[in-house]
Amino acid sequence: MDDGRVDDAVTDTEVVVVGTGVSGLAALHHLKARGVDVVALERNPDVGGTWYHNRYPGCRFDSESYTYGYSFSQEVLREWHWKERYSPQPENLRYLRFVTEKLALRDVIRFNTTVTGAHWEESTRTWVVHIEGGRSIRSRFLMTCLGMLSTPTMPRVDGIDTFEGPSFHTFDWPKDGIDLRGKRVGVVGTGATGVQAIAAIAPEVASLTVFQRRPNWHTPLGNSEITVEEMAEIRSRYDEIFALCAVSPGGYVHQPDRRGFHSLTAEQRRRFWEELYAQPGFAVWLANFREIFVDREANAEFSAFVAEKVRERVHDPELAEKLIPKDHGFGVQRVPLETNYYEVYNRDNVRLVDLQQTPMVGVTLTGIKTTEEDFELDVIVYATGFDAITGPYEQLDIRGVGGRLLKDKWVDGPETYLGLLVRHFPNLLMVAGPQSSSSSVNFPRSIEAQVDWCMGLLDHLRRNGLTRLEPTAEAEREWVAYVAHLYEKLLMREARSWFTGYNSNIPGREHGQVRHVMFNGGQPKYREILDAVASSDYRELVLS
Ligand code: NAP
Repeated sequence: MDDGRVDDAVTDTEVVVVGTGVSGLAALHHLKARGVDVVALERNPDVGGTWYHNRYPGCRFDSESYTYGYSFSQEVLREWHWKERYSPQPENLRYLRFVTEKLALRDVIRFNTTVTGAHWEESTRTWVVHIEGGRSIRSRFLMTCLGMLSTPTMPRVDGIDTFEGPSFHTFDWPKDGIDLRGKRVGVVGTGATGVQAIAAIAPEVASLTVFQRRPNWHTPLGNSEITVEEMAEIRSRYDEIFALCAVSPGGYVHQPDRRGFHSLTAEQRRRFWEELYAQPGFAVWLANFREIFVDREANAEFSAFVAEKVRERVHDPELAEKLIPKDHGFGVQRVPLETNYYEVYNRDNVRLVDLQQTPMVGVTLTGIKTTEEDFELDVIVYATGFDAITGPYEQLDIRGVGGRLLKDKWVDGPETYLGLLVRHFPNLLMVAGPQSSSSSVNFPRSIEAQVDWCMGLLDHLRRNGLTRLEPTAEAEREWVAYVAHLYEKLLMREARSWFTGYNSNIPGREHGQVRHVMFNGGQPKYREILDAVASSDYRELVLS
């Protein structure tokens, strides 16, 4: 049947939501609030997604906590107390559980249910969602809320499975914790995750060996407590805070400085940067001159400023040089925020191994072997990143019209419309999908806009008795080209980071061949585009 008339009896539910992390819970709330028949499938035994998994010590927000919470429930905003400016993982998981109970979302979630794939069936206009163990569920719409950083990647080195002690990726940190006191611990990787974990565990372990390949630019987080009085004041300003985030390109409270790098003297710039460096959070990155993202001279001068800070903080000058990136400027990769990270290297029990000088040869029964040395370890922690953004999709057997595999469609890089829809994959709604704003924006601020847009679209279909949606070929082509064009403007296009699809542990993705995986136009622009599509009655979509 393909005449718009569809037999509702064939569906088990109207919408299947996959994943109950930050975006899945938001989607569920809005669907339930509309009375839509919905089922959520969650591979874990609990909600939380990234905040369920990442239990490594030091794991916390780099967004101001009060800008990370959902904006759509006055009740939640009124009742929840963020206790720290950059809230830690256990508290963030508590928050998501609190929201789940408060908004009564748990009854539609099937836990311990791992989706393996989803196949579009044109004759019934339904998705058949396949679940590990052989079961399936049929729905009209499929909303994927898979997260962007939910497919961890391990180093491709010899012997990785032979190590006799505990070893794990930070994403799979043991759920019941692990006692590292008195242990010889090795950490591989110095991205945002690595630096949080390294700084947190250094004081408690017998010895910490950090295996660093390319250093990153890190700046201080500046965490602090939020008292009851401060929280009351924040609550009274929630409207103002969310309004500020809505006009900021990054969806944070930080606004770029618009005076212009070149309009100030070097001395004025330096004074400004001293102020920024002392501020908490991403001010140093996102409240900086816009030129640092696009202008080599501006970027080099600011990078030199941050390099001086590293030299001031690390006592051993040779070691300080190893910690300063030489292959990329500040902020072209996502900036990891740290708490006493550089000071860790002034401790007697911490050693940095520079893998550029002495590459890792393999993992042995008792530790890690480099070209120079065998390191005896009790525990190995891999903070080695993710098959970011597209990985969670490409792991699944998602088949659209005519049995097309999504992974095949994206073999040379993702192709989407608005980061939300994919041609030949009707009725698939991705939240935080490739080419959306999610990776460049404070996550909840970005996904709320996407979920709102999806709700508007579903309302439109329902109002008009329609059951099928798909972007036109032209709309998708133009979006892919626009996303690529936005990369061209930014120094970031040259960086080897998950922002450009780089991952040294995935064959073919090692050398930083740019994949246009994210929308870089800023959240206000993204929202404006979404609104324009909605108010044109979705002209760029084929609806029937
Ligand atoms: P990442 O930024 O991709 O960093 C991975 C690190 O592992 C890099 O230092 C990389 O070195 C190293 N590495 C990978 N494979 C290796 C190998 N085979 N041998 C040696 N080193 C290897 O991953 P991440 O630190 O997990 O951060 C990913 C993103 O998660 C962040 O950018 C951020 O968006 C998010 N995050 C956020 C927070 C927060 O504060 N809210 C905290 C943690 C993470 P190379 O650079 O040389 O490849």
